[in-house]
Amino acid sequence: MEPRFRETAFIKGVAQVEQLPPDDGIEIAFAGRSNAGKSSALNALCGRKALARVGRTPGRTQEINLFALPPDAAWRLVDLPGYGYAKVSAGQRQHWDRLLGDYLQSRECLAGLVLIMDIRRPLTELDRQLLEWVPLERCQLHCLLTKADKLSRQAADKQLHATQRELEGLGIEATLQTFSSLKNQGVDDLRGLLTEWLQPVED
Ligand code: GDP
Repeated sequence: MEPRFRETAFIKGVAQVEQLPPDDGIEIAFAGRSNAGKSSALNALCGRKALARVGRTPGRTQEINLFALPPDAAWRLVDLPGYGYAKVSAGQRQHWDRLLGDYLQSRECLAGLVLIMDIRRPLTELDRQLLEWVPLERCQLHCLLTKADKLSRQAADKQLHATQRELEGLGIEATLQTFSSLKNQGVDDLRGLLTEWLQPVED
């Protein structure tokens, strides 16, 4: 079955994992440092202007936002709170850490995580921390190196390969691609991959 990304619709935002919908169906989550371009990437993926709000005051997006992805009522896209915004209290940071960590580690219907990173600064300390929470034995990982339009094609490819090698060095299996929300570059590749993730696993 083909997902209809353009029909993606907001379900709800939750501030506690207890408020999440029942842990069934298939979820694909999006994570990244605040300002990495996660909202823009989600909007480009869904062909929408304002599904996720771009340039929101960083640090304000404290909730996990869930979206329904037709036509299968069991498919959801999950916008995880951006991390790494400096001007927040220790308490607030702790809250996000727990929310993100709890979600990633406990959510059994999580089929895959798309990690959004600025192509000029991939795999920061905080991205590596997040990766430690991802249950890679049951959850696929795709790294989206976004804002690729900020680099030449050659420099972007170089960053892609360097990031791939770094992940290999960390023993992390992942797919990677360059992406630009501004130029709509890489959108079809991302849609194709997520479509594969949504197919039922055959035993
Ligand atoms: P988020 O905090 O990760 O959700 O990031 P946003 O999507 O809000 O984007 C942060 C800033 O980066 C905004 O000013 C966007 O316009 C800009 N941005 C996002 N994606 C791209 C991209 O692919 N290319 C360029 N040049 N700018 C981008």
